[in-house]
Amino acid sequence: EAAGPAPLPGQTRAPAGQKDGPPIIDAQNVQKHFGTFHALRGVNLTVQPGEVVVIIGPSGSGKSTFIRTINALDAHDGGTITVDGIPLNGKGNLDAIRREVGMVFQSFNLFPHLTVLENITLAPTRVRKATRADADKRGLDLLRRVGIEEQAHKYPAQLSGGQQQRVAIARALAMDPKVMLFDEPTSALDPEMIKEVLDVMKELARTGMTMLVVTHEMGFAREVADRILFFDQGNIVEDTTPENFYQNPQHDRAKQFLSKIL
Ligand code: ADP
Ligand code: MG
Repeated sequence: EAAGPAPLPGQTRAPAGQKDGPPIIDAQNVQKHFGTFHALRGVNLTVQPGEVVVIIGPSGSGKSTFIRTINALDAHDGGTITVDGIPLNGKGNLDAIRREVGMVFQSFNLFPHLTVLENITLAPTRVRKATRADADKRGLDLLRRVGIEEQAHKYPAQLSGGQQQRVAIARALAMDPKVMLFDEPTSALDPEMIKEVLDVMKELARTGMTMLVVTHEMGFAREVADRILFFDQGNIVEDTTPENFYQNPQHDRAKQFLSKIL
């Protein structure tokens, strides 16, 4: 494996042996209902530290709901989820989980009244009680890492969509998460900005970050994913390597899906 760039502070590259150790995400028989609608129907997934897992599937199949349960934005109502050994059981461990798991949304979700740097330093100073000087230094390091250090003192509205999404990634990384979740991070971007965001995500993958990425960017999936999950009607119906998935999808719904997007 090629040596990537240096890991982020507080982050270590997954040693080869870790693939056989305890999973960082362990979801067993996860259920979720919205009223009478059964959105997640017994999802099982284990993810090892350093794995990059791409999630695809038709609209409404439960992709967003599933990744939202992993950092407790949505509470699951059956089964078990453990992140880095912490059970997600709604018993006051939400803060611990949200410190472990960073999330990036389709719609950036930056605070419009805060500068780029303030967006990044807000949680570290409030939640982690970092000093202003330390948080600013780390924030500028992260902005350099996503290639927009010079935008630090602008407001989100003054940035392009691609730049805003890179700020959102830097903001999530500022909490030193062990897992990063991405929900269609490039779907709201103009085509010419997609690559700059995917490049940041590729670089993050090379540093050994554990990543779950809902995306329809097939180039990214082929190049970066260790595994592809295909969701259909609230469950994972394929869990395999990118090579297998593209060359030999097993499930009819996956075949149909691929024939439409490739
Ligand atoms: P995907 O991300 O795969 O497109 P979602 O996880 O967003 O799918 O949604 C799965 C299903 O759950 C959809 O049918 C959606 O309408 C429903 N759903 C999602 N969130 C809610 C909610 N807050 N209230 C009611 N239904 C919801
Ligand atoms: Mg979705």
